[in-house]
Amino acid sequence: MNKVLLLDSHNRPINICSWKRALVLLMKGKAVNARHLNDINSMIKVENVLIPLVIKLTYDLAIPYQELPFCRENILVRDEFVCQYCGGKFHPDELTLDHVYPKSRLGPDIWENIVACCRECNQKKADRTPKEARMKLLRRPYRPKDFLSFELKKYPENLVRYWREYFEAS
Ligand SMILES: [Zn+2]
Repeated sequence: MNKVLLLDSHNRPINICSWKRALVLLMKGKAVNARHLNDINSMIKVENVLIPLVIKLTYDLAIPYQELPFCRENILVRDEFVCQYCGGKFHPDELTLDHVYPKSRLGPDIWENIVACCRECNQKKADRTPKEARMKLLRRPYRPKDFLSFELKKYPENLVRYWREYFEAS
């Protein structure tokens, strides 16, 4: 997973891009290494080229707001593949999406009403509210705020540890 965090010229994260795109930006002088040049651990070696894990644009760019897509994958990532009723961690294939307020009673398809749910819990809950089914939600489902910090959940810790500080700062 050779990915690079791209910062704007004010050190705010704007994208996670491929190493190839990062290399093009670096070669064209549109970006520079955002970290200390001697911090060799924050570089990746791809085809004998060292590429920094964090680069920074050298020019100002207006970034359009990116809405996080409302889809099954992102709901499962938000809930960390944990059934929101029994707390079990599951393979994505074993998880369903549950309408907290039942779909049969016109519960809406929105972030705040959909949770990851294992098959067993989904069957048990059926067309009832959590209260009616006497099943407690681990936490109230929410709409993730920021597209890019949400994307971080999809990357391994050995990458994210070099990136996190830029999210905390911005
Ligand atoms: Zn469950």
